[in-house]
Amino acid sequence: MTYIVTDPCVKCKLMDCVEVCPVDCFYEGENFLVINPDECIDCGVCEPECPVDAIKPQSEDEADGRWLKVNTAYSRVWPNINVRGRPLADSDAYRGQADKFNRFFSEAPGDGS
Ligand code: SF4
Ligand code: SF4
Repeated sequence: MTYIVTDPCVKCKLMDCVEVCPVDCFYEGENFLVINPDECIDCGVCEPECPVDAIKPQSEDEADGRWLKVNTAYSRVWPNINVRGRPLADSDAYRGQADKFNRFFSEAPGDGS
């Protein structure tokens, strides 16, 4: 089992989550973060750190495993991040919006750390 990052993270990237992970398994895209499911030790420490409840246990994934697929795919190609970076300047404007992944998700990698 693993934890997964889900829709509320898109265009947020507050990154309260990355510094608490004991195994440094967060990976950074341009406007989204993912967890590498093969590296996550299922400790749950990151879940309460996320102010927008974007981090969920795999058991709360959508029925088709959508978020596990997204986290798996992009953690293979994006750079690792374990130091909190700067949040996106417009993150507050997008907080709470629905279906952000379909509308705004970028496949571009982030800068990593
Ligand atoms: S704290 Fe939550 S919304 Fe912010 S980068 Fe981490 S998972 Fe994404
Ligand atoms: S559950 Fe633990 S190991 Fe997995 S991403 Fe969160 S902090 Fe890292």
